[in-house]
Amino acid sequence: MIEELYTKQQVDLRNRARELAENVMRPVAAKYDVAQEYPWEVQKAIKDAGLSGVWIPKEYGGLGGGVLDLCLVVEEFSRACGGMGVGFAVNALGSFPIIISGSDDQKERWLPGIAAGEKLIAFGLSEKMAGSDAGSMVTRAEKDGDSYVLNGEKKWNTGGSVASYNTIFAVTNPERGARGVSAFVVEEGTPGYKIGKHEDKMGIRCVPVVEIHLDNCRVPEANLLGGREGQGFKQAMITLDRARPGVAAQAVGLAQGALDLAMEYTGERQQFGQSVNSFQGIQWMLADMATQIEAARQLVHAAARTIDSGHKNITKISAMCKLMATDVSMKVTTDCVQLFGGYGYCKDYPIEKYMRDAKITQIYEGTNQVQRLVIARKLLREAAGGAS
Ligand SMILES: Cc1cc2nc3c(=O)[nH]c(=O)nc-3n(C[C@H](O)[C@H](O)[C@H](O)COP(=O)(O)OP(=O)(O)OC[C@H]3O[C@@H](n4cnc5c(N)ncnc54)[C@H](O)[C@@H]3O)c2cc1C
Repeated sequence: MIEELYTKQQVDLRNRARELAENVMRPVAAKYDVAQEYPWEVQKAIKDAGLSGVWIPKEYGGLGGGVLDLCLVVEEFSRACGGMGVGFAVNALGSFPIIISGSDDQKERWLPGIAAGEKLIAFGLSEKMAGSDAGSMVTRAEKDGDSYVLNGEKKWNTGGSVASYNTIFAVTNPERGARGVSAFVVEEGTPGYKIGKHEDKMGIRCVPVVEIHLDNCRVPEANLLGGREGQGFKQAMITLDRARPGVAAQAVGLAQGALDLAMEYTGERQQFGQSVNSFQGIQWMLADMATQIEAARQLVHAAARTIDSGHKNITKISAMCKLMATDVSMKVTTDCVQLFGGYGYCKDYPIEKYMRDAKITQIYEGTNQVQRLVIARKLLREAAGGAS
C-alpha cells in the first residue's frame, strides 16, 4: 500500500486493525475454527479499540468512514482470520440498509449501539428456496394495526445467533414480486423470532451462520425501514453494491495472509540441499500471486473510492471487484497450500484454513456466476447506449 494515496485516518485505521489482528486474532484463530464458536474476546477487543463503527456516520457515534475505510480494516482482520473478518464486516452488511434508507429516528435508534460495539446486526435476505433468485422469497409480513406480523424462515444468516438486530426482508405484497418486498429491523427477544439450525461449515467457522424462524413475529410499524412498503428489494440491492467490496477485501486479506505464510515457509523449507524458494518454479509462483493480489486490492480500492465519491453507477465495478478478488483468493490460497507440500494438506500448519475460508467469498453476497451476470447485464446495457 502506497500510504500517500490514503488519508491519515485510513492509514491509522489500517495500522490499528493490523495490530489488533496480529495481537488478538491470529493467536486464537485456530482455536475458534476448531471449536466453531463465536470469539467474544475478539469482539470485545474490536469494541475497545474503537473500530466497531468504522462505516457509521459520526453523528450516530461512528468513525464516519466510507467503504474504503471498511475495506482496509476487513483486509487486515482477514489476513489473520477470514472468519473474524466477516464476523466484523457482516455488521456493515446488516446496517447499510439503515444508513441508506432509515429515517432519522431509525438511525438514532439502532446505529449508535452498533457503532459502539454494544450491538451486532445481521442481514436476512436468503431463504432455502431463494438464494441467487432472492426476489422469489416467501417470508411474509402482514400489516395488522400499527404493526407487521412476520412469518417464514431465513437461511444462511451470518452472525444471526449473536446479533441483537437483524435486517429481515419479507414480502408485504405478494402480487408485486420483488417490488412487494419490504425491509424490517427485528430485535432479538421479539416474541416469535427464533434462532434455528447452526450450519456446520467448511470455513469461516468462528462466525455462526444460522436459520432464522419467524413465527407470528410482531414488529412495530416503526421498524419498517424507510417507512414505505415495497422498497426492500431495492434497499437490498443498493446494500449489496456497497457491501461487495467488503467481501472482496476479505478475499484480498485471506490471499495476502496465505502468501505471507508461504513466503516464510518456502524460505525455511529445504529440499535438494537448498531452500525451496531458491527454485525458479517457486519464485514465479510467488511473483504471480503477489501480482494478482495487488491487482485485486487495487480494483477493490477503486470500487470503494467510486462508491465513496457518491457516483451513481457502482453496480458493475462493485461486482467486478468481488468477482476478481474472490477468484484470486481461491487460486492464491490453493497455490499456497501447494507450496507447503504434504504439510499444507494437514492441520499442523494454518495454511489449509485460508483455503477453506476463501471458498465462501466466491459464494456469498451473490455467487461469482451471479456477479458475471450482473457485469454482463451492465455491459450489454452500456453497449445499447444506456447508463452503466
Ligand atoms: C456461509 C454462508 C453465509 C451466508 N450469509 C448470508 C447472510 O448473512 N445473509 C443472507 O441473506 N444470505 C447469506 N448467504 C446466502 C448466500 O448469499 C447464498 O448462498 C448465495 O446467494 C447462493 O444462493 P444458493 O446457496 O441458494 O445457491 P443457488 O442460487 O441455488 O445456486 C446454485 C448454483 O447455481 C448457480 N446459479 C444460480 N442462478 C444462476 C444463473 N442465473 N446463472 C448461472 N448460474 C446460476 C449458482 O451460482 C450456484 O453455483 C450465506 C451463505 C453461506 C453459505
